[in-house]
Amino acid sequence: MDKHTQLICDPRQAPMQINSLQPPVYHASTIVFDNTKALFQRHWSDRYDYSYGTHGTPTTYLLADQIARLEGGKYALLTPSGLAAIVLVNTALLEQGDEVWVTENMYSPNLEHLYELQKRYGVVIKIYNPLDATSFQPTAVCKLLWLEAAGSVTLEFPDLQGLIKIAKKHHVCVALDSTWGAGLAYSPFDLNGISVDICVHALTKYPSGGGDVLMGSIVTNDETLHTKLRRMHTLLGFSVSGDDCARVYRSLPSLALRYDKQSKNAIELLTYLKHEPAFAQVLHPANPDTLGHQFWQQNCPNGRSAGLVSVVFDKRYAWADICRFCDALRIFKLGFSWGSATSLVMLYDLSKMRTLPQAHLCGRYVVRFCIGLESPKDLIDDIKTALGSLNYDEKSK
Ligand SMILES: *Cc1c(COP(=O)(O)O)cnc(C)c1O
Repeated sequence: MDKHTQLICDPRQAPMQINSLQPPVYHASTIVFDNTKALFQRHWSDRYDYSYGTHGTPTTYLLADQIARLEGGKYALLTPSGLAAIVLVNTALLEQGDEVWVTENMYSPNLEHLYELQKRYGVVIKIYNPLDATSFQPTAVCKLLWLEAAGSVTLEFPDLQGLIKIAKKHHVCVALDSTWGAGLAYSPFDLNGISVDICVHALTKYPSGGGDVLMGSIVTNDETLHTKLRRMHTLLGFSVSGDDCARVYRSLPSLALRYDKQSKNAIELLTYLKHEPAFAQVLHPANPDTLGHQFWQQNCPNGRSAGLVSVVFDKRYAWADICRFCDALRIFKLGFSWGSATSLVMLYDLSKMRTLPQAHLCGRYVVRFCIGLESPKDLIDDIKTALGSLNYDEKSK
C-alpha cells in the first residue's frame, strides 16, 4: 500500500486502551459504521447514539452523565452555551398561543428570547413575583414556568416550593435555571420532596471554573420529557466539542471546593460591604435584609451560596461615579460571567432593565461583585481604594 494511503488508512497498531486517570477525548463529525445493518439500525433517540458527531461521543456522554449526577437527575443534554440550553427548552415546549410565566429578575437573554417568540408566534408572557407564589396564576394554556434561584443581579431567592406546588396542581412544566446553585446549594429534584421538571445550568460558570469554556446542560428525570428535548437538540444541531467537555469534566472534582471557597470569600466581603457607607444596600441571599432570605434558608439547608454579592449605591452617587468606581478597581476585572478564579465586577442601571417598581431596593445603580479565589482582604482593599478615588468626604454626608 502506498505510504500516503497508509497515512489515511491508519492501521492503528498501538493498543488503543490505557487506564489513564482522565478518559480519552474523542473528536468526531464522521463516525464509521461497521456495516449497512448498523447504519440502518441507528436511531437518534438511543441513549448513546454514536452515529454522527452532533449526536454525541463517549466524551460528551461521559460529561452529560456526570452533570445528571451532580443535579440529582437521570438524563442530561449538553448545549453550546447556557443560553442555548434555555433557548432549547423554550423552543421545545412552547407553541403558538401558549402561556409562559417569568420573573423580571431572570437572566435577561431568556426574557429576550421569549419576547421574540411572543412577536413571532403569539406566545403569551406573564410576570410573577418570585417572593409571592400567589402572584403565579396559570391559565389553561400555560405550558411553562421559569424559575431562577437566586435571581440575576439583585439575587432575591424565590419561593421555590410554593411556586412549584402551584405549577404541579395545574400540570405546568417547571424549568429552573440552577446556575447560581451549581448543583450544590440546593437539589433541584428534591426540594423537601418537591421536584422541578427541567434543570438548566450554565456550565460556563462554576463547572468550567476557568472562564474559558461556554457550555450548558439540561437535566430531567422523566424519559418522555428528555426525549422531547433531545429531539429538539438533534433538530437544532446543537453539539459541544470533546475538548471543551474534557475541560469541564476535569474541573468537576474540584467544583465543591471552589464553590465553597468562593462562597466563604463572598460572605467575608458581605460583612465589610454592609458597613461601607457608600452602599445603601447589600444584596446576598444569606443577608437577612435581602428579600427571599427565608426561602434561601428553606431550600439551602447546608447554608451554601454562590460567590455573588451585589450592592446598591447610595443615592448621592451618579452613574458617572459608578463607572469611575468600576474603572478604578484593579483586582476585580470588568466583565460578564463568573465562576472562575478571577473576581469580576459588572454595573447595572436597574431603571433600564426592569419595568415593575423595585420598592425593596433603595436605589437604581447596582454593582455586582463575582468573587473569585483571591484573598478577601485584597479584594476589600481594592474596593476601598476605588471608593477613595471618588473623593467624597464621608464626614460632610
Ligand atoms: C451565564 C448564565 C446563563 C447563560 O450561560 P452562557 O453559557 O453564558 O450562555 C444562563 N443563566 C444564568 C443564570 C447565567 O448566569
